[in-house]
This record gives sequence, structure tokens and C-alpha cells, in this order.
Amino acid sequence: MLGQYLSDNKIPWKRRRCLGMAMTGMMSTASFLTKIGKLQSAECRLCRIALEARGESTDGLAAETHGHIDSAG
Ligand SMILES: [Zn+2]
Repeated sequence: MLGQYLSDNKIPWKRRRCLGMAMTGMMSTASFLTKIGKLQSAECRLCRIALEARGESTDGLAAETHGHIDSAG
């Protein structure tokens, strides 16, 4: 639903970009949650899900930071 909103060309790009940035700002990364003791590991949950879906090893996962998510996802 959000993706649909973000890709709707009728909505001015400025507004969509603003929403995207707000979402990034609100989203707590695993590395942050680990720092405050909410998670056991800072490894990227998105990569883990992707690797497990492919049946690959999840050893040595990248830390889940905003930079990592923005660049690779
Ligand atoms: Zn990742």
C-alpha cells in the first residue's frame, strides 16, 4: 500500500520523497535496537530473510544500519 502510494505519479514527487525520508527516520535499525538492548544481534534482518529464503548460510551478515539498507537492502 505504501509502495503504491510512493509510485503514484499523481502525487507530487516532493511529497513522496518527504514521506520516504520520514519513514527512514522513524524506522529503528537492528544496530540501534541492539545498542539499547532490544535485539540480540545487529545483523541485517532483511538479508537474513533473503538468505534463508534462498537456503544460503546466514553467517557474517552485514550490520543493519540505515546506510546498509539504503545501499543494498
Ligand atoms: Zn541487509
